[in-house]
Amino acid sequence: MSYQYRCEQCRTTSPPVLTRSGLVEEQDKHRRLFHGGHIPDGEMVIQPEPFHYTDIPRGQWIIGSLMVLTLIVAALYRIS
Ligand SMILES: [Zn+2]
Repeated sequence: MSYQYRCEQCRTTSPPVLTRSGLVEEQDKHRRLFHGGHIPDGEMVIQPEPFHYTDIPRGQWIIGSLMVLTLIVAALYRIS
């Protein structure tokens, strides 16, 4: 998951960072350099939508299910 800092006043978006602390660092750096440490109106944090299982394409569900089924059958065959 990555985060980006967006300043609507400057119409800029930071490069993506991987952690919340990296986001805070980008935010603080931008505020200090371009706004004298003040909080600009309209600033926002852009983060990706949370993962949903429904986002997985149907074909990958089918292939994944077949792989799991194959592993279960192979394990059962080996046990017996
Ligand atoms: Zn700004």
